Amino acid sequence: MKHSIHEELDEIRSRGLFRSTRLISSRQSARVNCNGCDQLLLCSNNYLGLADHPALAAASIRAIEGYGTSSGASRLVSGTMELHEELEQAVAAFKGREAALTFNSGHAANTGIIPALVGRGDLVFSDRLNHASIVDGILLSGARMLRYPHNDFEQLGRLLEKHSGRRRLIVTDGVFSMDGDLAPLAELVELKKQHQALLMVDDAHGSGVMGAQGRGSAELLGVGSDVDIQMGTFGKALGSFGAYAAVSEEIRSLLVNRARSFIFSTSLPPAVLAASLAAVTLVQSTEGDLLRERLAGNTRLFRQGLHDAGFIMPEGSTQIVPVITGSAEITMRFSEALLSEGIFAQGIRPPTVPAGTSRLRFTLMATHDPADLTWSVERISAIGRRLGVL
Ligand SMILES: *Cc1c(COP(=O)(O)O)cnc(C)c1O
Repeated sequence: MKHSIHEELDEIRSRGLFRSTRLISSRQSARVNCNGCDQLLLCSNNYLGLADHPALAAASIRAIEGYGTSSGASRLVSGTMELHEELEQAVAAFKGREAALTFNSGHAANTGIIPALVGRGDLVFSDRLNHASIVDGILLSGARMLRYPHNDFEQLGRLLEKHSGRRRLIVTDGVFSMDGDLAPLAELVELKKQHQALLMVDDAHGSGVMGAQGRGSAELLGVGSDVDIQMGTFGKALGSFGAYAAVSEEIRSLLVNRARSFIFSTSLPPAVLAASLAAVTLVQSTEGDLLRERLAGNTRLFRQGLHDAGFIMPEGSTQIVPVITGSAEITMRFSEALLSEGIFAQGIRPPTVPAGTSRLRFTLMATHDPADLTWSVERISAIGRRLGVL
């Protein structure tokens, strides 16, 4: 059977699922220049504005001057530099764990960590709304995947009772990337103890933002040390790039020996490590507290405004604010209309989210001007009415 690339692209287009990139030609600030126009940025994960922070930039420049531009090799060859170890110690202290290991991205972390922990004969219990990189990691591991309905820990308990295996791993997002709600971590910890399973939390959207000093959603929910693997990323609230696993010394050793994305990839370069290190320090400072307060204030203002306008929004209180629009086609028309008024908000369609739940996913930043947000709520509502979403 022949299926040309041309036909495949036509098929993607005909289903309203064709994607392309948009060009930003300014810094990643609260307002950006996108495709030549000034836009209010409402779809960045740069929650605290650190991607544009002078302290991170200065640290990167110093690192380039001191150590050059590349690590030159993978970690187990000659690519482990002082900055890798400094960053790992800082992350372990930040997360209150024995040890930490850096990865080249969140995707690389999930596709490295999960297959290092489980394989054929093992079981992974995975929330249905977990990030795609978790699903990729599970598929790559060869372990059997048992998906439970979103945040339904009772159903998870039943699955754990029914299915035993050599090793069992429960894995969940801490803050769900497309819904913006939190995982019930206290209940998941209970279950993992009761059933002697491992628990892994992907806190890509919680690191730097949730809990005291931005230590993450496990800290917020009071279960930090009971989570076996706390994975997080540096590319979102931390304004840099890369990822980490905060773990026991024992699990760290296993990852060093088994995680293929760690072993077979050139390690993070000095400039990136130094920016991450500066960010980990900054989020724990009083400036970090101030940025989190601003982010929380902006989130409340924006959520309340859209809620009062009558939009359908999943329960939640985080800086990720989804507005359900329904079909992929309406969602794309909505985001085009927003762009034409100076609001950059990404429409999210299948396969990123289940069919029929296409949405606009707004994300707030500490650096947004509240007046811009009030204006945007009014414009979003007007377009919503025009397109029949409201
Ligand atoms: C963004 C994200 C990742 C991937 O992290 P990158 O560093 O961007 O590769 C993994 N998990 C979740 C939940 C994410 O939101």
